[in-house]
Amino acid sequence: MDSRVVQEIAEVRSQVATWRREGKRIGFVPTMGYLHEGHLSLMRQALACCDRLVVSIFVNPTQFGPSEDLSAYPRDLAGDLAKIRSVGEALVFVPSVEAMYPQGAQTFVEVMEVTQPLCGVSRPIHFRGVTTVVCKLFLIVQPDIAIFGEKDFQQLVAIRQMVRDLRFPVEVLGGPIVREADGLAMSSRNAYLDPDQRMSARALSRALTEARLRFAAGERDAKHLLGVARAILESISGIEIDYVEVRDPVGLHTVEGAVKSEDRLFVAAYLGRARLIDNAPLGGACGLPPASV
Ligand code: AMP
Repeated sequence: MDSRVVQEIAEVRSQVATWRREGKRIGFVPTMGYLHEGHLSLMRQALACCDRLVVSIFVNPTQFGPSEDLSAYPRDLAGDLAKIRSVGEALVFVPSVEAMYPQGAQTFVEVMEVTQPLCGVSRPIHFRGVTTVVCKLFLIVQPDIAIFGEKDFQQLVAIRQMVRDLRFPVEVLGGPIVREADGLAMSSRNAYLDPDQRMSARALSRALTEARLRFAAGERDAKHLLGVARAILESISGIEIDYVEVRDPVGLHTVEGAVKSEDRLFVAAYLGRARLIDNAPLGGACGLPPASV
């Protein structure tokens, strides 16, 4: 199969129906485009475990708050298609807003609890938009496997919850965070950073690394580890912290007192108009130093 770009839902349904008849295993990677190596790594992961790959590119309006960056969100369809082709063959679904949200649409899918803390505080309608669009995409693509990046860890947890609750016959996999050489988690929103902000942005992954180093040295107190991470972010002018928190990776409950290796440190911060997020487990390997604990 050559890579194909389709805009119509009916075309996706028809192609997927053919693949299903042929017994193909279908992998799906939803994106908002402006692709980078983080997105491509998820596509490679899907190609490694599936016979066919569907990638969606859709800047989903319902996950942006009224004062967020919907109209400014970076787009480059031609560049995205070239990048996808460099990875392998895919059916690339690029729907219009009208196709995904028929005029007068009033149906949403909302995951109630795991969407409340962390990004849910400053982005109260965000996850409702994410789960609604992913639900619609799952109904159109009907994948066997769908892959989401751990970069948006709370999103991954919310999707897993939705899939369980709605009994979707979809296996959800997480993909490791892909980082720039200096540790900054790749993100389409990094395009908003000016050179000074780009330098400052290194503090997010440094804050995670410093807490991980303390954990590796034996520190287990959540408050202490949070203090270490927070101090690094606060030492950089131009960074405004949204949150620094330790939570468990399954239910995203706050961890107080003694932390476990799999508990995750989550950070979010504003640099100018960019809002950046990052996270890492306190122990174990994750692509940040210490390499293994
Ligand atoms: P987005 O286009 O930002 O909606 O992201 C689409 C998918 O790519 C989501 O599952 C993200 O979690 C994932 N993703 C974004 N950045 C990265 C990264 N640096 N490493 C791994 N996955 C990522």
